Amino acid sequence: MFCGVVCVILASVTALSARHSLRPARLLPDAASEPRVRQALAQLGTNTATITDEQVRISEIPAPPFREAARGEYVAKLLASAGLKVHTDEVGNVVGERTGSSPGDLVMLAAHLDTVFPVGTDVHVRREDGRLYGPGISDNATGLAALVAVARAMHDAEIETRSTILFVADVGEEGEGNLRGMRKLVETYRKQLRCVIALDGSSTDYVTTAALASRRVEITVTGPGGHSWSDFGAPNPIHALARGVARFVKMPVSDNPRTTFNVGEIQGGTSVNSIPAKASLKVDLRSESETELGKLETRFRETIQAGVDEENAASRERGVSAKPLSVTATVLGVRPGGELPANSPLLAAVHAADDYLGNRSRIERSSTDANIPLAAGIPAVSIGAGGRSSGAHSSNESYDPAGRELGLRRVLLALLGMAGIDSAAH
Ligand SMILES: [Zn+2]
Repeated sequence: MFCGVVCVILASVTALSARHSLRPARLLPDAASEPRVRQALAQLGTNTATITDEQVRISEIPAPPFREAARGEYVAKLLASAGLKVHTDEVGNVVGERTGSSPGDLVMLAAHLDTVFPVGTDVHVRREDGRLYGPGISDNATGLAALVAVARAMHDAEIETRSTILFVADVGEEGEGNLRGMRKLVETYRKQLRCVIALDGSSTDYVTTAALASRRVEITVTGPGGHSWSDFGAPNPIHALARGVARFVKMPVSDNPRTTFNVGEIQGGTSVNSIPAKASLKVDLRSESETELGKLETRFRETIQAGVDEENAASRERGVSAKPLSVTATVLGVRPGGELPANSPLLAAVHAADDYLGNRSRIERSSTDANIPLAAGIPAVSIGAGGRSSGAHSSNESYDPAGRELGLRRVLLALLGMAGIDSAAH
């Protein structure tokens, strides 16, 4: 009973009134006054030191893109110790099931396992004045620690819900992982999935309800190669890319819808005195509009081709009869866009939790695991798991756990808002 009715009321109250006059949170205390829920909320406050220790242990298990297995195994043990039925699917997602009273009705809480840091990165965590320093300590060891802590708090308090909850540690959120873990999960559970709450990083001052669409493309230019002196004039893949990139970056992009590009990687060449036989680059294209994104990708491909054509022409003009350059483009990743309706019960559940906890959060658009369910029309949000961090995706990443209980309680209350408490079982 809890979920269905309350969500509808929450949705309508939220839609109808400014959040701060008619306080939807008035409804939440009923649930939050449930002794078991209060016990779980209390535990998330008293256990923060243990949760931080667990976060450090998780963060110190390397999980580069496509190599999440070792960390996955560790998190699987933690979820099993919180009473969940745990299995690992064929792409490496760790799925812990907490059965609810109404079968076939699933709510997913997911945190990605992978980091951006390549094999060999020193992931040791340094503690200084209560702050934690280490690659991936926040993104996403914070989310994984919260996933385990919330599962454990519900288990210890014996909270029963209507919906079955899947606690998932998924793979492939970062970079070229291309959201492959969440794609597999949505494919597997699509029919029963009521919503997805993705936990990513720290903080409580936002809720991502819109998916930023992006495309990542790798361009490779190949040519005859040669000696820099005796073969001068032969077409050079690096020169061609330079000509193309110079054209591309000069082109204006839309501010509204916000559209961006980034040539993030470029490589090629064997030695300074050789004309390279191959050079390549990787570009990240993003936009709030899929149409703009499509136009930007077309323009990118055209300008790179123009750069290659220009280099081939220059070579002909120098009277050099060499095999012209050729180009191949590989799509490395496509992240679809999508948006959660403003009157969504899921958003109302997060807002109600915010109101109950006295937290303020803004709506955001970004590229997260939520992109996939949102693009599939399944309600989804991505939120932080509390505390504060800086330097994500850099080796200077750090995390301050102070105040993390607010984030943990927000996750629990939003989750219960969607899964519903089975008061018959309480
Ligand atoms: Zn992340």
